[in-house]
Amino acid sequence: MSITSAQPDANGTIHTATGQCCFLCGRELHDPAVFWMGATAEVYLHADCVPDLAVRMFRDVHEIRNPEYYGRRGLR
Ligand SMILES: [Zn+2]
Repeated sequence: MSITSAQPDANGTIHTATGQCCFLCGRELHDPAVFWMGATAEVYLHADCVPDLAVRMFRDVHEIRNPEYYGRRGLR
């Protein structure tokens, strides 16, 4: 994980969010934003969108680990 900036990092690399869209809401981004580089893709997010995505991801993990909980309540 990293925070974008128009300024180069210690390695001289610039990770700016300018020209990128938020992975969650799709709106245009500006620095500073959250940047993740995964094995197959890069993800940019507004700082305000990170908690919304994290909560949704945690909910999905909880459902995977507890399918009977969601099945009984018709939440699947
Ligand atoms: Zn966003």
